[in-house]
Amino acid sequence: MASGRDCAKEQIKRWQELRGLQKPDALTTGAGIPVADKLNVMTVGPQGPLLVQDVVFTDEMAHFDRERIPERVVHAKGAGAFGFFEVTHDITKYCKASVFEHIGKRTPIAIRFSTVAGESGSADTVRDPRGFAMKFYTEDGNWDLVGNNTPIFFIRDAILFPSFIHTQKRNPQTHLKDPDMVWDFWSLRPESLHQVSFLFSDRGIPDGHRHMNGYGSHTFKLVNSSGKSVYCKFHAKTDQGIKNIPVEEAGRLASEDPDYGLRDLYNAIANGNFPSWSFYIQVMTFEQAEKFPFNPFDVTKVWPHKGYPLIPVGKLVLNRNPVNYFAEVEQLAFDPSNMPPGIEPSPDKMLQGRLFSYPDTHRHRLGPNYLQIPVNCPYRARVANYQRDGFMCVSDNQGGAPNYYPNSFTGPEDQPNLKEPRVLVSGDVQRFNSANEDNVSQVRDFYTKVLKEEERERLCANIAGHLKGAQFFIQKKAVKNFTDVHPDYGACIQAHLDRFNAESSKKDCVHSCTQTSSHVAPIERSNL
Ligand code: NDP
Repeated sequence: MASGRDCAKEQIKRWQELRGLQKPDALTTGAGIPVADKLNVMTVGPQGPLLVQDVVFTDEMAHFDRERIPERVVHAKGAGAFGFFEVTHDITKYCKASVFEHIGKRTPIAIRFSTVAGESGSADTVRDPRGFAMKFYTEDGNWDLVGNNTPIFFIRDAILFPSFIHTQKRNPQTHLKDPDMVWDFWSLRPESLHQVSFLFSDRGIPDGHRHMNGYGSHTFKLVNSSGKSVYCKFHAKTDQGIKNIPVEEAGRLASEDPDYGLRDLYNAIANGNFPSWSFYIQVMTFEQAEKFPFNPFDVTKVWPHKGYPLIPVGKLVLNRNPVNYFAEVEQLAFDPSNMPPGIEPSPDKMLQGRLFSYPDTHRHRLGPNYLQIPVNCPYRARVANYQRDGFMCVSDNQGGAPNYYPNSFTGPEDQPNLKEPRVLVSGDVQRFNSANEDNVSQVRDFYTKVLKEEERERLCANIAGHLKGAQFFIQKKAVKNFTDVHPDYGACIQAHLDRFNAESSKKDCVHSCTQTSSHVAPIERSNL
């Protein structure tokens, strides 16, 4: 390999080498018709206009015009790879899912890592949570554990999700990232304090995708073969060790190598340096959940390790790069509602909201038959049901099998032995306000017990460095919330803010923004 060239840069040459002495394929149109000349359009005379009959041109151009599919609303920039999950410890006393059947069992997997707020071409080294979405292709259908690199989340009620994401994206008028929007929302919703503290800590900018942990984040339910259930959380701890990128280095990489994470993952796998994660569960019995000091289904909180230790389960290994990015990563669709028998949702409000939202977005982005796309297809199970037709049905559409149920003609039947265990749920139906469910104790533990002094200092500087962009009244509200966590936390952020604000007041002239949206005439319908 020439010096300075890595496996990613050598990809196209390697592709050619793998073909050996094979001659190039015969060029065809999309319909497979041989193409004689792909360098010159068909015109009337050498300088004349194009002809509609040049179908070689129109076939190519029309397809090119349709190359982009809708970008993911969140997690648009990502990298993916394939490999296997291997069971190293028996957890069948908790869970009957076939993926955990016996020690040594291997199940094929796909994992997609991503940033959350940026667009598909945005930099990998920004401060942002990272998506850590795992797909297990099991014999009982696909299990998607659609997690992040944090065990918690910013909000606990799914109804806030669209608003929260809007604050992380772009201002509707300026189309710029907007610290007022970000900090206004966070300061009005103190349940975000825990995740905000993780985000602005050193782990907020992981060194690529291999050096971070993954978490299922939500509480799930495991069911064993006797029908007994426990609550559970999933953890994937990096075997490469935690590594983060310092702020200045991340800024440099964002302009010099914005695809740093994608490149790092591709090259590691291409070099045979396969990344792996040790997979654990935490388990809580229903009795423990009843007595738990807070809502065990609240995704803004963790289950302390002391009471709920990590139980080893297995290993996730990535050993294959995608053969084609669009086919296998852009179209890779994760859906938390894909849970094979033995794994069930808990009442976690965020999880319940995602059970609807993820398949809904895939049906919009990839179409109602997105589960027929090879990378999403539960290829180790046999799909048999009464769903038919829809855009882009590329299977045999289940042939002549009956398309209604019940039927008298041996169509697919229920499997009553797999019925979910009965759960008693009762209560008043209401929109219960969960805003004030202890938003500070675990953040206090994190700040005072987990972080070292120099990590606390960097955390406060990072928060102030972002918060300084927001209006003063928002800064004040935010600092009050951090002070509620711990007076030192608020004071440290305020001290940094004071320095930033003093510096900027020296430099700033006051801008008079006379033209606001209210001064601009709305676009007249007749002008459209
Ligand atoms: P422990 O004292 O047993 O462990 C501390 C945890 O913090 C470890 O999991 C460690 O991850 C993680 N950690 C260290 N630095 C950071 C960081 N900058 N950002 C995010 N996580 C970090 O934890 P407890 O269970 O007693 O909980 C104490 C506090 O630790 C919690 O309130 C929570 O804030 C935090 N925490 C807890 C987790 C849990 O599942 N219980 C998971 C992650 C954080 P590692 O082992 O990989 O170094």
